[in-house]
Amino acid sequence: MTANEFIKKVFFIEILKGLALTLRHFFTPSVTRQYPTEKREPFPGSRGLHALVRDPETGREKCVGCGLCAAMCPSQCIHIYTSEDDDHKKVVDRYEVEVLRCVYCAFCVEACPYGAIVLTDHFEYSGYSREELYYTKDRLLHNWDKYMANSKGREYLEKFWRPKSEDFGVPAAGHHQAEGKKAT
Ligand code: SF4
Ligand code: SF4
Repeated sequence: MTANEFIKKVFFIEILKGLALTLRHFFTPSVTRQYPTEKREPFPGSRGLHALVRDPETGREKCVGCGLCAAMCPSQCIHIYTSEDDDHKKVVDRYEVEVLRCVYCAFCVEACPYGAIVLTDHFEYSGYSREELYYTKDRLLHNWDKYMANSKGREYLEKFWRPKSEDFGVPAAGHHQAEGKKAT
Protein backbone atom coordinates (compact mmCIF):
# COMPACT_ATOMS: atom_id res chain seq x y z
CA MET A 1 0.00 0.00 0.00
CA THR A 2 1.38 3.40 -0.96
CA ALA A 3 1.53 6.33 1.46
CA ASN A 4 -1.19 8.12 -0.52
CA GLU A 5 -3.55 5.15 -0.29
CA PHE A 6 -2.78 4.81 3.44
CA ILE A 7 -3.65 8.47 4.10
CA LYS A 8 -6.88 8.13 2.11
CA LYS A 9 -7.89 5.11 4.17
CA VAL A 10 -7.06 6.66 7.53
CA PHE A 11 -8.94 9.90 6.87
CA PHE A 12 -11.89 8.27 5.02
CA ILE A 13 -11.28 10.53 2.04
CA GLU A 14 -13.60 8.66 -0.37
CA ILE A 15 -16.41 8.57 2.18
CA LEU A 16 -16.03 12.30 2.82
CA LYS A 17 -16.13 12.92 -0.94
CA GLY A 18 -19.35 10.93 -1.20
CA LEU A 19 -20.92 12.82 1.71
CA ALA A 20 -19.91 16.14 0.13
CA LEU A 21 -21.61 15.10 -3.10
CA THR A 22 -24.79 14.21 -1.20
CA LEU A 23 -24.68 17.51 0.65
CA ARG A 24 -24.30 19.45 -2.59
CA HIS A 25 -27.44 17.80 -3.93
CA PHE A 26 -29.46 19.05 -0.96
CA PHE A 27 -29.18 22.53 -2.42
CA THR A 28 -29.78 21.81 -6.12
CA PRO A 29 -33.35 22.03 -7.48
CA SER A 30 -35.20 18.71 -7.71
CA VAL A 31 -35.91 17.29 -11.18
CA THR A 32 -38.47 14.75 -9.97
CA ARG A 33 -42.11 15.53 -10.74
CA GLN A 34 -44.49 14.92 -7.87
CA TYR A 35 -47.10 13.04 -9.90
CA PRO A 36 -50.13 13.27 -9.72
CA THR A 37 -50.02 16.75 -8.16
CA GLU A 38 -47.48 17.93 -10.74
CA LYS A 39 -48.39 16.99 -14.29
CA ARG A 40 -46.92 17.65 -17.67
CA GLU A 41 -49.15 18.48 -20.63
CA PRO A 42 -49.49 15.44 -22.92
CA PHE A 43 -47.30 15.61 -26.00
CA PRO A 44 -49.38 16.63 -29.06
CA GLY A 45 -50.60 13.60 -30.95
CA SER A 46 -49.82 11.20 -28.11
CA ARG A 47 -51.79 7.96 -28.14
CA GLY A 48 -54.12 7.37 -25.24
CA LEU A 49 -57.67 6.19 -24.73
CA HIS A 50 -59.77 5.47 -27.83
CA ALA A 51 -62.73 7.55 -28.97
CA LEU A 52 -65.28 7.27 -31.74
CA VAL A 53 -65.74 10.52 -33.62
CA ARG A 54 -69.19 12.04 -33.28
CA ASP A 55 -70.54 13.57 -36.47
CA PRO A 56 -71.58 17.14 -35.55
CA GLU A 57 -74.37 17.10 -38.15
CA THR A 58 -76.10 13.87 -37.20
CA GLY A 59 -74.93 13.63 -33.59
CA ARG A 60 -74.16 9.97 -34.28
CA GLU A 61 -70.87 8.12 -34.86
CA LYS A 62 -69.07 8.88 -38.11
CA CYS A 63 -68.16 5.21 -38.40
CA VAL A 64 -69.84 3.37 -41.26
CA GLY A 65 -68.91 -0.09 -40.07
CA CYS A 66 -66.59 -0.95 -42.96
CA GLY A 67 -64.37 -2.97 -40.62
CA LEU A 68 -61.03 -1.74 -41.97
CA CYS A 69 -59.82 -0.73 -38.52
CA ALA A 70 -60.65 -4.16 -37.10
CA ALA A 71 -58.93 -5.86 -40.02
CA MET A 72 -55.75 -3.82 -39.48
CA CYS A 73 -55.64 -4.16 -35.69
CA PRO A 74 -52.70 -6.42 -34.81
CA SER A 75 -54.22 -7.19 -31.39
CA GLN A 76 -57.64 -8.05 -32.86
CA CYS A 77 -59.20 -6.02 -30.09
CA ILE A 78 -61.81 -4.14 -32.14
CA HIS A 79 -65.21 -5.80 -32.53
CA ILE A 80 -67.82 -4.40 -34.89
CA TYR A 81 -71.38 -5.66 -35.36
CA THR A 82 -73.50 -4.18 -38.12
CA SER A 83 -76.97 -4.65 -39.58
CA GLU A 84 -78.98 -3.19 -42.43
CA ASP A 85 -81.76 -0.66 -42.00
CA ASP A 86 -84.96 -0.34 -44.04
CA ASP A 87 -83.13 1.76 -46.66
CA HIS A 88 -80.46 -0.96 -47.01
CA LYS A 89 -77.91 1.23 -45.28
CA LYS A 90 -75.37 -0.30 -42.97
CA VAL A 91 -75.96 0.48 -39.30
CA VAL A 92 -73.26 0.11 -36.67
CA ASP A 93 -75.04 -1.73 -33.88
CA ARG A 94 -71.98 -2.30 -31.75
CA TYR A 95 -68.44 -1.00 -31.90
CA GLU A 96 -66.27 -2.25 -29.06
CA VAL A 97 -62.61 -2.00 -28.10
CA GLU A 98 -60.86 -4.25 -25.61
CA VAL A 99 -58.52 -1.55 -24.39
CA LEU A 100 -56.44 -3.92 -22.28
CA ARG A 101 -55.26 -5.73 -25.41
CA CYS A 102 -54.45 -2.59 -27.40
CA VAL A 103 -50.81 -1.83 -28.18
CA TYR A 104 -51.48 1.80 -29.22
CA CYS A 105 -50.03 1.36 -32.69
CA ALA A 106 -52.79 3.62 -34.10
CA PHE A 107 -53.16 1.42 -37.20
CA CYS A 108 -56.92 1.66 -36.66
CA VAL A 109 -56.77 5.46 -36.92
CA GLU A 110 -54.53 5.26 -39.96
CA ALA A 111 -56.71 2.69 -41.70
CA CYS A 112 -60.02 4.49 -41.21
CA PRO A 113 -61.02 6.29 -44.43
CA TYR A 114 -63.55 8.43 -42.59
CA GLY A 115 -61.48 9.73 -39.67
CA ALA A 116 -64.01 8.01 -37.42
CA ILE A 117 -61.76 6.57 -34.73
CA VAL A 118 -59.02 8.37 -32.80
CA LEU A 119 -56.67 7.84 -29.91
CA THR A 120 -57.14 10.72 -27.48
CA ASP A 121 -54.33 12.12 -25.36
CA HIS A 122 -56.00 10.86 -22.17
CA PHE A 123 -53.67 8.26 -20.70
CA GLU A 124 -54.61 8.25 -17.01
CA TYR A 125 -57.14 5.49 -16.80
CA SER A 126 -57.36 2.25 -14.91
CA GLY A 127 -59.94 -0.18 -13.62
CA TYR A 128 -60.50 -3.04 -11.23
CA SER A 129 -62.02 -5.37 -13.79
CA ARG A 130 -61.73 -6.19 -17.49
CA GLU A 131 -65.26 -4.89 -18.04
CA GLU A 132 -64.27 -1.39 -16.92
CA LEU A 133 -61.73 -1.31 -19.73
CA TYR A 134 -64.04 -2.80 -22.33
CA TYR A 135 -65.28 0.22 -24.28
CA THR A 136 -68.64 0.05 -26.00
CA LYS A 137 -69.86 2.40 -28.73
CA ASP A 138 -71.58 4.74 -26.26
CA ARG A 139 -68.54 4.91 -24.05
CA LEU A 140 -66.28 5.58 -27.04
CA LEU A 141 -68.57 8.38 -28.22
CA HIS A 142 -68.55 9.77 -24.69
CA ASN A 143 -64.73 9.78 -24.83
CA TRP A 144 -64.95 11.95 -27.94
CA ASP A 145 -67.25 14.42 -26.16
CA LYS A 146 -65.04 14.44 -23.11
CA TYR A 147 -61.53 14.53 -24.52
CA MET A 148 -61.87 15.87 -28.05
CA ALA A 149 -64.64 18.42 -27.63
CA ASN A 150 -64.96 21.53 -29.80
CA SER A 151 -62.16 22.03 -32.30
CA LYS A 152 -59.62 19.83 -30.50
CA GLY A 153 -60.65 16.63 -32.23
CA ARG A 154 -60.85 18.19 -35.67
CA GLU A 155 -57.43 19.82 -35.28
CA TYR A 156 -55.98 16.53 -34.09
CA LEU A 157 -57.25 14.69 -37.15
CA GLU A 158 -56.12 17.40 -39.56
CA LYS A 159 -52.67 17.63 -38.06
CA PHE A 160 -51.81 14.01 -37.48
CA TRP A 161 -54.06 11.82 -39.59
CA ARG A 162 -54.29 13.05 -43.13
CA PRO A 163 -54.94 11.90 -45.79
CA LYS A 164 -58.60 10.98 -45.39
CA SER A 165 -61.27 9.77 -47.78
CA GLU A 166 -61.92 13.22 -49.26
CA ASP A 167 -58.33 13.27 -50.51
CA PHE A 168 -59.10 10.31 -52.77
CA GLY A 169 -61.79 11.74 -55.00
CA VAL A 170 -63.10 9.60 -57.86
CA PRO A 171 -61.59 10.91 -61.13
CA ALA A 172 -63.97 12.62 -63.56
CA ALA A 173 -65.47 10.33 -66.24
CA GLY A 174 -63.53 12.09 -69.02
CA HIS A 175 -60.29 11.47 -67.17
CA HIS A 176 -61.10 7.75 -66.93
CA GLN A 177 -61.65 7.47 -70.67
CA ALA A 178 -58.46 9.31 -71.48
CA GLU A 179 -56.52 6.95 -69.25
CA GLY A 180 -58.24 3.95 -70.89
CA LYS A 181 -57.33 5.11 -74.38
CA LYS A 182 -53.74 5.64 -73.36
CA ALA A 183 -53.50 2.07 -72.09
CA THR A 184 -54.77 0.42 -75.34
S1 SF4 B 1 -54.18 1.23 -31.61
FE1 SF4 B 1 -53.49 -0.65 -32.69
S2 SF4 B 1 -53.84 -2.30 -31.24
FE2 SF4 B 1 -55.00 -0.54 -30.50
S3 SF4 B 1 -57.06 -0.81 -31.30
FE3 SF4 B 1 -55.93 0.45 -32.78
S4 SF4 B 1 -55.06 -0.99 -34.26
FE4 SF4 B 1 -55.68 -2.17 -32.46
S1 SF4 C 1 -62.36 1.90 -40.40
FE1 SF4 C 1 -63.44 3.72 -39.64
S2 SF4 C 1 -65.44 3.66 -40.66
FE2 SF4 C 1 -64.51 1.62 -40.91
S3 SF4 C 1 -65.31 0.45 -39.17
FE3 SF4 C 1 -63.36 1.32 -38.50
S4 SF4 C 1 -63.89 3.27 -37.49
FE4 SF4 C 1 -65.66 2.61 -38.70
